[in-house]
Amino acid sequence: MSHTAGQDVWLKLESAQPTGSFKIRGIGLACAEKHHHGAQRFISSSGGNAGIAVAYAGRRLSVPVIVVVPETTTARAIALIREQGAEVIIHGASWHEANNYAQDIVTERDAFLHPFDDPLIWQGHATIIDEVMQSALRPGAIILSVGGGGLLCGVVEGLHRHRWEDVPVIAVETKGADSFAQSINANRRVELPAITSVATSLGARQICEQAFIWSQSHPIYSVVVSDRAAVKACLDFEADRQLVVEPACGASLALVYGGERMLQQFDNVLVIVCGGTTVGKDQLRKWWLELQ
Ligand SMILES: *Cc1c(COP(=O)(O)O)cnc(C)c1O
Repeated sequence: MSHTAGQDVWLKLESAQPTGSFKIRGIGLACAEKHHHGAQRFISSSGGNAGIAVAYAGRRLSVPVIVVVPETTTARAIALIREQGAEVIIHGASWHEANNYAQDIVTERDAFLHPFDDPLIWQGHATIIDEVMQSALRPGAIILSVGGGGLLCGVVEGLHRHRWEDVPVIAVETKGADSFAQSINANRRVELPAITSVATSLGARQICEQAFIWSQSHPIYSVVVSDRAAVKACLDFEADRQLVVEPACGASLALVYGGERMLQQFDNVLVIVCGGTTVGKDQLRKWWLELQ
């Protein structure tokens, strides 16, 4: 990958987390805190990696978990959530309906886990930068993917924690899930009418407010790639590293594999390989053929 990019590329392999994505960092911390404060059940409305992370954290903390997912959730994701011992309720045509239902069933003794908009989530994700710091690498820039902006907020928080506020972040999205890019352009938080990208893990129709606030006080570049480039990067990464990641992660990898010109101005580019386990190899190949 360094060869392809023409400079040193570093990878933070969040795909190697027990739940297959970085989500367990923030969700794990949030679940531990909420458990400590008496929560007797965790409720999530994510049919993706956040739901898997809540299910995992619940199992490790011996707290029962309910994940409400929309009808569009893949069989693979449902199986991964159930594998962790969580109860899955399938409700509604989209995340919006599933989320409303999840909110309705939350009682006083439950904790609701938001996938990206919670300071505890950002605090947990910030540990990525603690580890980079300990590894003695000072990145010239950090590439990461943006959905609702939880990962972005965590990484920027981590950078500020270590006085690395001058390290720029390159925030990548796919076309059709580009709520961050559109918000930067419009200078306000834009709400997308719908998500039309295959990178469903980036499919937040609106970024969290904190992500927008950081965009005005931290050097953040916004880049949008095509679904095709994101899927291609997943296939290239699989061939290179024998690791399967979602297009949500492929979006970040696409800057390296696509030879993004912007990278030339930085040394030691660090890619947060955010991972994701809801998509298998066969689906990647199928998308690749469909997106020709
Ligand atoms: C959740 C997720 C993202 C996006 O993270 P946000 O915190 O919502 O910006 C990106 N990639 C993967 C694999 C994810 O699970």
